[in-house]
Amino acid sequence: MVRILIVGGGVTGALCAHMIRRHLPTKVQCQIVVWEKSRGIGGRMSLSKAPEFKECSAELGAQYITRHSKYLESHKEFYKDLLDSNVIHSFKGEIDGFRGDNDTNFVCTNGLSSIVKHFFGKSFVEMCPNQRLESLRLVSDDSWSVWEASTTAGHHDHFDAVILTMPIPQILSIEGVKDKLDVDNVKDLESAQYSSRFAVGLFYNKAVLSEYSWAARYVGDSDIIRYIAMDHEKRGIPKSKTSSVVVHTSVPFAKSHLEEDAAAVGSKVVDELKRIIPGLPEPDYVKFHKWRYSQVTQSTATYGSLVCHSKPLLIVAGDGFTHSNFDGCVESALSIEQHITEFVKCGVN
Ligand code: FAD
Repeated sequence: MVRILIVGGGVTGALCAHMIRRHLPTKVQCQIVVWEKSRGIGGRMSLSKAPEFKECSAELGAQYITRHSKYLESHKEFYKDLLDSNVIHSFKGEIDGFRGDNDTNFVCTNGLSSIVKHFFGKSFVEMCPNQRLESLRLVSDDSWSVWEASTTAGHHDHFDAVILTMPIPQILSIEGVKDKLDVDNVKDLESAQYSSRFAVGLFYNKAVLSEYSWAARYVGDSDIIRYIAMDHEKRGIPKSKTSSVVVHTSVPFAKSHLEEDAAAVGSKVVDELKRIIPGLPEPDYVKFHKWRYSQVTQSTATYGSLVCHSKPLLIVAGDGFTHSNFDGCVESALSIEQHITEFVKCGVN
């Protein structure tokens, strides 16, 4: 039995699980285990819920899937799968200030985390939430070698292959990873850059927001706020009894407040929102979130993923090796598929 650990329950992790499951030769028995540090899956495509009225939700991270013409052919099977399974649908509303072509945007009624759930669901993974990987240690004798993975809570397990799919600075902070890289690879990984953003979700236990003509809006006249979404409208939720507003700050604002508490920064954001939309009702619940690693502004020179160690296999992947969107995560997962199939073909130990 081949045991593979995927660290990270985001869309790259889900797509990796899908690639492994569909391409591993059937005679090879394979167990895919996923460790995710948070309570739920989705990562930067997660859905937040108001604690006291859980039917009200908001997407504080990624907003829509934008299909780029470059990947129309090479990624069409993924879009077809998501469309045929009713996971995504075309965005129908108005995005005020959006410069692209609206036909290429897709949303999910239940949030983009549905995409993550879809691919993990097809892959028969053993999902382990609340498991934060802390360190990796090579354990071997003459006949076999495995990774001993340890969590911050002191849980240990052994795997033939490990795939890390978090933002690159988080990958490099795992004890034992840098030791397995040569100097040039460390330099390359350290060159990856991410923007930061604060996000604020305003949750309403009633439908109060249908009077706005736009579902989302790029704000041009604020130093603090860059983007506002009437989240339920954006996701096309019909006749919702609740509503929510999502706000993303500008990148320069987030950079200058990055080390501050998310709630303290969030109240400045709410004040600015009230200036932009006077008369916005008082929310029933507000959630603040700091995305320290929001979107990749400079990716690594290595494209897709990097094999850090071949036996046992250690691969690092994610949007840091491509670009920050669904297509970027597909590209990264596709590059892993090749490494995994070769690894299994050559024999695990
Ligand atoms: P992540 O989603 O970051 O997943 C990594 C996972 O690893 C996380 O769940 C994290 O909790 C977990 N993790 C981290 N460390 C550990 C550890 N030590 N042990 C266990 N688990 C760990 N993309 C779009 O396509 N369209 C958009 O409109 C869009 N807008 C965005 C807006 C914002 C504000 C943000 C933040 C992102 C946006 N993106 C957008 C980018 C998109 O969300 C990302 O490119 C994509 O979600 C990255 O997925 P991933 O799986 O590579 O990483």
